[in-house]
Amino acid sequence: TAAATEEPITPPVQVNYTQLLINGQFVDSASGRTFPTLDPRTGEVIAHVAEGDVEDINRAVVAARKAFDEGPWPKMTAYERSRILYKFADLIEKHNDELAALETWDNGKPYEQAALAEVPMLARLMRYYAGWADKIHGLIVPADGPHHVQVLHEPIGVAGQIIPWNFPLLMYAWKVGPALACGNTIVLKTAEQTPLSALYVSKLLHEAGLPDGVLNVISGFGPTAGAALASHMDVDKLAFTGSTNTGKIVLELAARSNLKPVTLELGGKSPFIVMDDADVDQAVELAHFALFFNQGQCCCAGSRTFVHEKVYDEFVEKAKARALKRVVGDPFKKGVEQGPQIDDEQFSKVLRYIKSGIDSGATLVAGGDRFGSKGYYIQPTIFSDVQDEMTIAQEEIFGPVQSILKFKDINEVIKRANASRYGLAAGVFTNNLDTANTLARALRVGSLWINCFDVFDAAIPFGGYKMSGQGREKGIDSLKNYLQVKAVITPLKNP
Ligand code: ADP
Repeated sequence: TAAATEEPITPPVQVNYTQLLINGQFVDSASGRTFPTLDPRTGEVIAHVAEGDVEDINRAVVAARKAFDEGPWPKMTAYERSRILYKFADLIEKHNDELAALETWDNGKPYEQAALAEVPMLARLMRYYAGWADKIHGLIVPADGPHHVQVLHEPIGVAGQIIPWNFPLLMYAWKVGPALACGNTIVLKTAEQTPLSALYVSKLLHEAGLPDGVLNVISGFGPTAGAALASHMDVDKLAFTGSTNTGKIVLELAARSNLKPVTLELGGKSPFIVMDDADVDQAVELAHFALFFNQGQCCCAGSRTFVHEKVYDEFVEKAKARALKRVVGDPFKKGVEQGPQIDDEQFSKVLRYIKSGIDSGATLVAGGDRFGSKGYYIQPTIFSDVQDEMTIAQEEIFGPVQSILKFKDINEVIKRANASRYGLAAGVFTNNLDTANTLARALRVGSLWINCFDVFDAAIPFGGYKMSGQGREKGIDSLKNYLQVKAVITPLKNP
């Protein structure tokens, strides 16, 4: 295990942009206030960032409104918009390593993961949406009477977008990509923990030719800047990713203001089901990845590992061995699998859940404490003998804590897996096609991974059942969120 207590590696990147991005310009906040963004490896300040509030959201919405109503964005040809997005993807690739370093510095995720997977995925998503831009069109539909009926698909207007801190650049792509492809303008509020990479990448988007005012980026806090955006009367659509509690707040703000349509991507408590026919070594590895990936900070984390009683003991032993082998340490270091949690609040919350697991009588198999003495590192932790009613089996922990539960048969596990107010994702591990098909149909979730997990191609829709959200992002479904539908009817003189 790499030592988190060694001197942290100096990030190979500089912070160039800390102001708000409004109407194509980097500007200070109206109040002049700033807030610090911290390095999760140490808790030390990386940079002071302009703190957006109500007045800045207003300024950004005015700019986005103007760019929408007067153009040029929605009035450009779809091909021109597409070419800007393609050019943007090229620039992302050119700046891959700087973007990855900023992401790691601000978020704490392993640099290799950011550089080899997330930033390339950001470019891939932009090309996917660039490809859509000139393929979005309406329909001619038949009418009962002598009428010519066109159904137009128009951009919805100014989109307000609020994103979280666990995948800052990917959440940016999931929101900004479809909104721009459809011809909308945007006010984006980044998470207060991770404001840096969105500013950097948005500068590249302007270099690619994005007109001023089309994308405005506001750093700031939820109850101030975020709430101002959600309740703004001149914002036509809201897209939110974050916790279920905050999702309820923004939905209410949208309803109380102008009834703007809202898409929500919220929390989860996803089951990962290991059947008795499974290869246990492979199942352990996949279940480990499903939970521990990104420091356990994934809304779709496989956080209820259900294991068939026939392979349960073997699974727990091997899961323990795998967790003890997990390389925790400075995320800039080669070979590190797990960096620090995002901040002190999440760090303390995860430790509270670990204590709750111990107190409720679950068996602590591995980990159970912080890792090192500096920063927000937590030991890969495993509980076995977890019961459904325990808090750690019900609430989203959002950290490196695996809960292993035992089951006897498929009907029982379907019932228990579905007995959650969440319905974001599930994993199934089996070699039996009938078992896989039965589970795939029975589980009430938006994403179901069979013998794989966290496969996130641009064309695959993602979103939740139940309290995990409303609507879908990525894929063709994501376009609907950003389009209005207009029916144009004209009489036919000579039908
Ligand atoms: P987490 O607890 O994981 O930080 P949140 O749901 O609080 O998740 O945060 C996700 C995003 O929602 C962040 O950008 C945050 O600033 C924003 N946010 C938090 N509270 C509010 C609020 N009351 N109104 C609007 N946005 C909010």
